[in-house]
Amino acid sequence: MEVWFTEDQTNDLRIGCRVREVLFSDVSPFQKVAVLDTVEFGRMLTLDNVIQTNLKDEFVYHEMITHVGLNTHPNPKKVLVIGGGDGGAVREIVKHQGIERVVHVEIDQMVIDVAKKFFPELSCGFADPRVEIVVDDGIKHVKDNKGVYDMIIVDSTDPVGPAVGLFSEEFYRSVFEALTGDGLFVAQTESPFFNSELIKQITATVNGIFPVTRLYWAVVPTYPGGYWTFTMGSKMYDPKTVVLDEAKIAALNTKWYSSEIHRTAFMLQPFVKELLPR
Ligand code: SAM
Repeated sequence: MEVWFTEDQTNDLRIGCRVREVLFSDVSPFQKVAVLDTVEFGRMLTLDNVIQTNLKDEFVYHEMITHVGLNTHPNPKKVLVIGGGDGGAVREIVKHQGIERVVHVEIDQMVIDVAKKFFPELSCGFADPRVEIVVDDGIKHVKDNKGVYDMIIVDSTDPVGPAVGLFSEEFYRSVFEALTGDGLFVAQTESPFFNSELIKQITATVNGIFPVTRLYWAVVPTYPGGYWTFTMGSKMYDPKTVVLDEAKIAALNTKWYSSEIHRTAFMLQPFVKELLPR
């Protein structure tokens, strides 16, 4: 019998993929966690039936949520990742030699355990001695840590359940305070086709708190619409005008991110520009 996984990406749109085998399925205190072996995307992590990551396209998202900011800040040493329990973001961060400490705050222990067992390609960075894993609410962590981080990465689920607060004004204010004097943050901020109001609201809020607000994009086939955005709030450095270290970027051994992509990711189509604060 054919088994298909389907995700309701909006109330009126579904994505489906053929499943070879369900490798794991359980319910944590926060969400339903499943690992599927899919024909098209290889192993896939879903939370509450929403695709989080898979072995085929994960590199785009994980490279773009990390390297754009890490190459904008001239000397990032301490980085905080909120969410991102699959480990893909941490794997990319530890490629940077200058990083001294990565604190990874994930609310759900089950996601971390599943990543270690089923996604060694993503969770391999957890073994790096510079990485500390904290199982806690990222909202609480930023409130409790002021002036600590050079960069904060918000690798969250969609704004439902425990992630709702990760899209609030109060949270972005705490992120500002948790950063050092020249720090910056990057958050995944959904699709301009299906979440345009959310992007408008986030960029307006970040713009009211940070001196520099920038939206950029990448293509992630399994996320709604395939066109995905990230929002950066920066206290000092502008990712659009920063002089990039080409040799350092080449050494990252990336599949999507490059110095050219860093620059072009900030070139926005008119319908996306319209979402930004004027
Ligand atoms: N790349 C993914 C996407 O856009 O679909 C996100 C992947 S990652 C698995 C998201 C993680 O954020 C989940 O493991 C979830 O448990 C975690 N998360 C949600 N809310 C959180 C919070 N308040 N604090 C820390 N982690 C949180």
